Amino acid sequence: MSEPSKTDWRLDNLTSMRGFVFRWQRYRVVSEAWDHDHCSGCWAKFSEFPEQYSEPIQTEGWVTLWPTEDEPEPELIVKARTSGWRVEPSPKYGGFQLNWVCKECYELFGAGLDFVADAQHPQWGLAGI
Ligand SMILES: [Zn+2]
Repeated sequence: MSEPSKTDWRLDNLTSMRGFVFRWQRYRVVSEAWDHDHCSGCWAKFSEFPEQYSEPIQTEGWVTLWPTEDEPEPELIVKARTSGWRVEPSPKYGGFQLNWVCKECYELFGAGLDFVADAQHPQWGLAGI
């Protein structure tokens, strides 16, 4: 495996998660309206039901918590909804949303971004998951 480039677009996507705490787990569907997620780095798709898709699907990966308290909805989302699109807010867990990172991105960039693998961290209890 070659060293990841410092200008890799996946690294750019993950930089805001520097120092975040992760744990490895199976991907579970949250609700009918939220049946898949994407890797925060490379946008690989996560789903509990890979047979429903024609592209490669991640069924497990590294998950972290992203604080979302009192964030107003982005203007883009408000506009989409008012023009008739069905837009689902991401599910929230005690003020957090889940963000997923695929195995490859974690292995390539996790050390450089000080990712912490800690399944016992108190943050999981705060989110109630
Ligand atoms: Zn990825």
